Amino acid sequence: MSYKIQRVPILPLGMINAFLLQTAMGAVLVDTGLMGTEDNVAAQLKKLGLGWHDLKLIIVTHGHVDHAGNAAKLRALSGAPVVIHQAEAKYCAGEAEMKLCPTGWVGRLLYRRGIPLRPYDYFSPDIVMHDHDEFDLRPYGLEGRVVFTPGHTPGSISVLMDDGHAFVSDLIASGFALGGLLPVDRPRRPPFEEEPLEVASALEQLLAKGSTDFHLGHGFKLSTKAVERHIHTLRNL
Ligand SMILES: [Zn+2]
Ligand SMILES: [Zn+2]
Repeated sequence: MSYKIQRVPILPLGMINAFLLQTAMGAVLVDTGLMGTEDNVAAQLKKLGLGWHDLKLIIVTHGHVDHAGNAAKLRALSGAPVVIHQAEAKYCAGEAEMKLCPTGWVGRLLYRRGIPLRPYDYFSPDIVMHDHDEFDLRPYGLEGRVVFTPGHTPGSISVLMDDGHAFVSDLIASGFALGGLLPVDRPRRPPFEEEPLEVASALEQLLAKGSTDFHLGHGFKLSTKAVERHIHTLRNL
């Protein structure tokens, strides 16, 4: 089952990314972006020769507004079910505020402006992953699965393809500030991170499970070498 990876720029320069995975059966979306960015997704669907009705599944990696903010809208447009982890449900439902631990000046700046806690179109999921459950993507035409990778938030999940491509959202970031042009293959912590040691373990597990190419919510793709370096950094904070 071959598939195609299509990055969806929610903001330019890799500042915020979502991803479409195209299969013979349609497409699966990893993350939904900020509210009001449905045209960005539609444009990339169109590039693939697809429309809203071809979207078969929406995976929300965690409850932060830049990843979950447009889930309700995209579900309404496509009819695709939304999958999240149970530990993220109360945030996506707007029933609890996310714990935000800034990792540097970008996080502190965003936090002061109240951007990360800005309300979005809250939703309840159609499919809920529990504990260490894995969610099989073969019914959607993809040889891969969704795995539990907590640390950035308590219920963060990642998509791991059998060919080694991994979509890890905010487990790790790259580039300047929120993405940006340079430098290439340089890992950094995302603007917020709850449990760095848990992140290190989650990244280690992804490597052990065969991840080779790490696609990110903020920044551009990282290699295993860069991820290994980052694990070391996190363990020595
Ligand atoms: Zn996040
Ligand atoms: Zn993010």
